[in-house]
Amino acid sequence: MRCTTNQVVDFGESGPVRCSHCKGYINPFMKFIDQERKFICNLCVPPEFRSIA
Ligand SMILES: [Zn+2]
Repeated sequence: MRCTTNQVVDFGESGPVRCSHCKGYINPFMKFIDQERKFICNLCVPPEFRSIA
């Protein structure tokens, strides 16, 4: 059981995912790619992802 007040992204054992660039926590505004194993951070958007962001 868990709160579903906001969109929840369950990463299981890996715990809360954070952006490796800005250390921001995962949020509903981030865009998932590569079968949802990676995400594009909406806070900083690394240059390598800008073309598809
Ligand atoms: Zn970031």
